[in-house]
Amino acid sequence: MAKYTGPACRQCRREGTKLFLKGERCFTDKCALTRRAVIPGQHGMGRRMTKEYGTQLREKQKAKRYYGILEKQFRNYFEKAFKQEGMAGDNLLIMVERRLDNVAYRMGIGESRREARQLVRHGHFTVNGRNANIPSMLVKPGDVIAVKDKSKATEKFKTLIENTASRAVPAWLEADKENFTAKVVSMPTRDSVDFEIEEHLIVELYSK
Ligand code: SF4
Repeated sequence: MAKYTGPACRQCRREGTKLFLKGERCFTDKCALTRRAVIPGQHGMGRRMTKEYGTQLREKQKAKRYYGILEKQFRNYFEKAFKQEGMAGDNLLIMVERRLDNVAYRMGIGESRREARQLVRHGHFTVNGRNANIPSMLVKPGDVIAVKDKSKATEKFKTLIENTASRAVPAWLEADKENFTAKVVSMPTRDSVDFEIEEHLIVELYSK
């Protein structure tokens, strides 16, 4: 699958908001958005769209970039979310929260979702004792996510978990950071989402 390989900070500047794609750097003065909050491209701020479509588009792009998901897959999530009971926007966000790469990040493995996704791809995780290297895998209540013994013994993983010690773990996960494991104790809810997003705009956009 194709993936975005350009500068992470460019995506934040394009959305005009912090998407926290570079770990600790995002919380410092080195954050590109703090230093230069101008939309990338020749025309800078002049390109900002103000019409309804533009607002909806930007909200969708923001969510996709925050979770690091490409258009086709994000659209597929929406199609599934729309068919489920309840609010399509809530269902969509709950679904992307359940992705294994997001869970790895939320349990404190990886300074950013991008790094967590790479660690999943490189085969450092198990789910319920089985190899799990697909970042888009959706976890469910009862699942136990763990870092493999061989991996957690490395300095790299010890440093990773130390660096994220202060990161709050959402209530739907029960993390045991010492043992590099987390159990899914319930389904995430809309309130579990830790960034500002107006998901109704995404629903409106995809429902046109
Ligand atoms: Fe976005 Fe982080 Fe770059 Fe700031 S440092 S622009 S929050 S990726």
